[in-house]
Amino acid sequence: MLEPRHDWTLAEAEALYALPFPELLFRAQQVHRAWHDPAAVQMSTLLSIKTGACPEDCAYCPQSVRFDTGVANEALLPLEAVIERARAARAAGATRFCMGAAWRSPKPKDLEKVAAMVRGVRELGLETCVTLGMVSGPQAQQLKDAGLDYYNHNLDTSEAYYGEIISTRSYQDRLDTLGAVRAAGLNVCCGGIIGMGESPRDRAQLLVTLANLPEHPQSVPINQLVHVPGTPLADAAPVDPFDFVRTIAVARIMMPRAQVRLSAGRESMSDELQALAFLAGANSIFYGEKLLVTGNPDVAHDRALLARLGMHAEAQGAAHAAQQPTAAQAPVTASAASAASAPPLQSATA
Ligand code: SF4
Repeated sequence: MLEPRHDWTLAEAEALYALPFPELLFRAQQVHRAWHDPAAVQMSTLLSIKTGACPEDCAYCPQSVRFDTGVANEALLPLEAVIERARAARAAGATRFCMGAAWRSPKPKDLEKVAAMVRGVRELGLETCVTLGMVSGPQAQQLKDAGLDYYNHNLDTSEAYYGEIISTRSYQDRLDTLGAVRAAGLNVCCGGIIGMGESPRDRAQLLVTLANLPEHPQSVPINQLVHVPGTPLADAAPVDPFDFVRTIAVARIMMPRAQVRLSAGRESMSDELQALAFLAGANSIFYGEKLLVTGNPDVAHDRALLARLGMHAEAQGAAHAAQQPTAAQAPVTASAASAASAPPLQSATA
């Protein structure tokens, strides 16, 4: 069976998550190599275009107006400033430029300004992505008409655990935004955050929800919680790095065509852990010294790490070429697909 599946069960996802670590990484590698160049990493740069004073209460977020985190509020950046940053990101090697605004949802006058930014960034030859909170169908269409490539809207965690993290918007609100984005023909960027106190079952359920959407998200960011002082999750227990890698591996197996992005939290990860995440199937990173308002490894360090690993930045547009496996890769896909549905050899967590 070559085609990606949309009928994953929680039991299957939990069984994958609980595989012995070498077996899980082997299966993830099989899937990864069937659909992607295992040495290529897609590079995205993220810019906060409107910072802080967000009315939502996401417990991990330093930009919520409800938490005292010391983040300086900034109004929507002028168009020229955004284009300047995009030009710099392109010069540094990024192929996608992501713009994030701390809004519950964009107002019409703001959306028009963001649409102008999308047009301007696209004229530089970069792929474009925005994350602006909840959007309606017409708003998603307006962005599509401006040339937007990707819309980011994360589910964050399982529906069961979601209420522990956010109260100001429902899980269904998030799914509705994803539906509007998909209906407009935009690529979907949607993932979650690991380390917020959720259980392995919550992680598995998040991945089941993502993989059983009508289309797999084209981009799946897997974030590790950044413990920002002042947020309710500042003192959350650190996640076991191997559990983080497991989550990436299961995402890779369940959503074979997606770009799985090693996202927030990378600054606190060792080079060895990042290499393990690449082995597990991560093939995209945020590239640049800042992620909205939290830190990120510097560009020189990332370049050096990829060079040490013999890996390289993916050429722009290569992600879209991963829609079908090549003839040479197809035999691996067949074995990988059966590997993905085979029962676990034994539970690693028993
Ligand atoms: S994650 Fe987004 S919606 Fe939630 S508080 Fe932060 S900026 Fe607002």
